[in-house]
Amino acid sequence: MDIRILGAHNSESEMTRCVCLLVDETLAIDAGSLTSNLSISSQPKLKAILLTHQHYDHIRDVPAIALNLSRQDTSIDVYSTPDVRVAIETHLLNGILYPKFQELPQAKPTINFRLITPYETQRVNDHQILAIPVNHCDTTVGYQVTDAEGKSMFYTADTGPNLRDCWKHVSPQLLITDVTVPNRYDEFAKRTGHLTPNLLHEELITFRELKGYLPQIIAVHMDATLEPEIKNEIAAIAEALDTSVMLAHENMQLHI
Ligand SMILES: [Zn+2]
Ligand SMILES: [Zn+2]
Repeated sequence: MDIRILGAHNSESEMTRCVCLLVDETLAIDAGSLTSNLSISSQPKLKAILLTHQHYDHIRDVPAIALNLSRQDTSIDVYSTPDVRVAIETHLLNGILYPKFQELPQAKPTINFRLITPYETQRVNDHQILAIPVNHCDTTVGYQVTDAEGKSMFYTADTGPNLRDCWKHVSPQLLITDVTVPNRYDEFAKRTGHLTPNLLHEELITFRELKGYLPQIIAVHMDATLEPEIKNEIAAIAEALDTSVMLAHENMQLHI
């Protein structure tokens, strides 16, 4: 399985993009930088997008990719919980802010919304998908993606602590996880449903207790203004766990 991190942050700037993962060129998870960091020629290779929740940094490029694909007579499946679909149809693809690409063109709409059911494995083209609820807003889900060779990655989406129940359902070789702010933002992270390096450390101890191993670990969704601090603190937890924990960066390529 080849994974390219299109966006590694919670904020867009000249050097940073909002969170977005590309799996085997055909499957995107979240849509924070689907158009800002994917070439026009690569965009039609996309067959499906999995959305974790409706926050703007995760869904912002759904209208933009729909416009580009509609120009190329291509359609795409967009998977989410019902809440996310309603939010996008109400606030973005509503015929006021942008065309209703879920209805246009009439003969073959560009966007096909598909519902995911948490805890049920679903086939999405060449991958098996398992959505698992995490601790963020409303019905936020993380996704485990497994390929035909049995290789799996799990992306936590935005999440706060207490992932014990979530870990019980997944067994990835690669874990891509929220680490939004440094340790001194502990209260903020708990209140808003995010992780700091220390909070991630506790979750990884639980993971190892339950599963007997630690996967390869990549942190995403960093606040760009706080990244140097996060990087130092991540190095400290990696040392404490005697494992590798890396911060993602835009265009990072991973292979499992
Ligand atoms: Zn969020
Ligand atoms: Zn976010």
